[in-house]
Amino acid sequence: MSGWVVVAGLGPGRESLIVPEVAEVLAEATDVVGYIPYVRRVTPRPGLTLHESDNRVELDRATHALEMAADGKQVVVVSSGDPGVFAMASAVFEALEAGPQEWLSLDIRVLPGITAMLAAAARIGAPLGHDFAAINLSDNLKPWELIEKRLRLAGEAGFAMAFYNPRSKSRPHQFARALEILREACGEETLISFARAVSTPEEAITTVTLAEATPDMADMRTMVIVGNRDTRRVGNYVYTPRSAL
Ligand code: SAH
Repeated sequence: MSGWVVVAGLGPGRESLIVPEVAEVLAEATDVVGYIPYVRRVTPRPGLTLHESDNRVELDRATHALEMAADGKQVVVVSSGDPGVFAMASAVFEALEAGPQEWLSLDIRVLPGITAMLAAAARIGAPLGHDFAAINLSDNLKPWELIEKRLRLAGEAGFAMAFYNPRSKSRPHQFARALEILREACGEETLISFARAVSTPEEAITTVTLAEATPDMADMRTMVIVGNRDTRRVGNYVYTPRSAL
C-alpha cells in the first residue's frame, strides 16, 4: 500500500465535535503522531501505532510523519481544534519544504476541524458576527512587540478578536499588558468573554467588560473573545450585530 499523511483536527474536546471525515481517516491509519494529550484522545486498536511527542517539537514530529509516509505508512498527524489554526498543518508544510525533493510527490491532505474559537463563540452567542481577527498571544514563535502592535491596530480598526494561548505560567505579566492595550484601543466598556475548556465537563464561560477583566480569568485552556464597540448582551447571550456604521 502506498503511504499518505493526513493532518487532522480533533475539535475542541467533545467526541461529537470530531468531524466524520476525521473519524474515517483515523479508522484507516497505521500510525498517529501528535502532542501527548491529543494522541491520547485517539482510541487504540490493533494495527494502529500511536506516537506521542512532547510540546514544542512540532517540526520533528512533522518530519517523522513524512518519513513514515515515504516508507509506505498511512499517517494521521493530530492537532486539537482545526489543524490549520496555530497547529500542525503549517509544521508539516515547513518540514516538506526543508525535506528531500521526493517528498513533494507524497499524498498529503489537510482535513478541516472545529477550532476552539468557533466552539467558544457558539457557546457565548455570536460575538464574531462581524469582522474579527484571530491572534495567538504566545510569544514562542514571534516577538511580544509584534503581538502588542497587532492587538492595538486590530482594536483601533474595530475588529472583534479571538485569542488563542492567552496566558501561561511562564509569562503571566503579558496578558495583563494585553488587557491594558485593549482598554486603550477598544474602550473600557467593550465586552470580553472567557470560555474555558469548551465542550468538556470543565467548561466555564464568563463575560465582563474590559474595565472588569483581570488576568487570572484566563489560562491556557481558555479562549478569550473581545467584542467590538457594538457587541452587546441580549438575555444570557452576547452578540455582535452584522452591521457597523
Ligand atoms: N488548533 C487548535 C488551537 C491550538 S492553540 C484549534 O484550532 O482550536 C491552543 C489554544 O487553543 C489553547 O491555549 C486555548 O486558547 C485554545 N483552546 C483549545 N481547546 C480549547 C477548548 N476546548 N476551550 C477553550 N479554548 C481552547
